[in-house]
Amino acid sequence: MFPHRLASSLLALVLLIGLVASAAGASIESSAPAGPSPSVPPSESVAPSESALPTPTPVPTTRVVPVLMYHRIGNPPAGARYPGLYVAVSSFRAQMNWLYMHGFHPITAAELGVALRYNRPVPIRSVVISLDDGRPDSYTAAWPILAKYGFRATFYVIPGLTRFTVGSRISWAQAATLAAAGNEIGNHSMTHTSLWLVHGAALARQVVTAGKVIETRLASLGVTYKVTTFCYPYGHWTGDALLLLRDAGYNAAFTTQYGRAVIGSTNRLLVPRLRVDRSLSLAGFAYRLPH
Ligand SMILES: [Zn+2]
Repeated sequence: MFPHRLASSLLALVLLIGLVASAAGASIESSAPAGPSPSVPPSESVAPSESALPTPTPVPTTRVVPVLMYHRIGNPPAGARYPGLYVAVSSFRAQMNWLYMHGFHPITAAELGVALRYNRPVPIRSVVISLDDGRPDSYTAAWPILAKYGFRATFYVIPGLTRFTVGSRISWAQAATLAAAGNEIGNHSMTHTSLWLVHGAALARQVVTAGKVIETRLASLGVTYKVTTFCYPYGHWTGDALLLLRDAGYNAAFTTQYGRAVIGSTNRLLVPRLRVDRSLSLAGFAYRLPH
């Protein structure tokens, strides 16, 4: 049994015991004979003494959150332009297993965005798993492994290149399935254009309209969804893009710059990530994460 499932089972058990105890308490009170008890003053019988209350155990938190950046999961085809972007399935599986064995629990970029925006620490050993570009292997290769470990991830899709059927990108139906399973579908711009090259209405289309298209497409498939994070194509950002994101209500935007997110310090619209590429060893992967 996975620890998080064990934890939720324990939580459910504790809640159940609490409900049974309170129900039992109610029935005892209602069936108690009228009139004060001769030995116990009524005030003490209803209010437990302070020393009897259990001390709540604080959940350890952290402000440092690694955001892993993946692109392709699989082997590069012959002549691939960027073979380094392909992480072998066996490597991806070993990396997810490492996270699981070391007690890491993935949160979505959206959840990190809320923490960054409102300066709230997150549970210790939180990590974000992000997969850029919405390629079919995100769904066919990465998602089954993530699901096996009970992990959730953030899938940055490109709405202008995404169709209702699977092509060079996952389909909207697959995106809806991922969203319904608790994953995040993030905005990776309308057509994966460098934001250095577009201005005005064209920039707004890449940034703001793209997010609305994701929401509309998912809604057409029955998934109500609010897009709250953005991922800059090629890591290229501009001041105008930051203003658009801020005014559109985005909580966070992610670059390709190397680094970890630090809640209370990192600019939430310029969040660095940790690139995971084909040549990264498991030791190198572990080194990127807090120990
Ligand atoms: Zn990209």
